[in-house]
Amino acid sequence: MSRVVCVSCIDGRIHDFVFKAIARIFPDTMVDLITEPGPDAFLTKPESTQSLIWDKIDLSIDVNSSKAIICIAHEDCKGHAVSKDQHKLDLEVWLKNIKDRYPKIPSHAFWIENSGLAEEVGSSLSLKS
Ligand SMILES: [Zn+2]
Repeated sequence: MSRVVCVSCIDGRIHDFVFKAIARIFPDTMVDLITEPGPDAFLTKPESTQSLIWDKIDLSIDVNSSKAIICIAHEDCKGHAVSKDQHKLDLEVWLKNIKDRYPKIPSHAFWIENSGLAEEVGSSLSLKS
């Protein structure tokens, strides 16, 4: 079974929605889940936190052979309390950083709503979980 790595929020309300959104693009795929409050605010985190996240992504790719990197932002995030538009801008920045660091690994970003609606940021794809 293949595998992807996902950087998501710690918020337990969204995990099922995240797995369902990923399964639409990568069916029958395991998910290595890295959690951090407000993960789309990555670049505002302390350097030590950024390093830990990069190390975990590296491990998932190098040791577990993950074939894609997914990043998540969600509605009503207590770890990064900004507008939906700001979350989407932050996801775009996060994606750019991932693509710069891992140019050969496909990357995706999702905006997750409390209803379960998952929208891929950087494309027009909208998925109902
Ligand atoms: Zn959150």
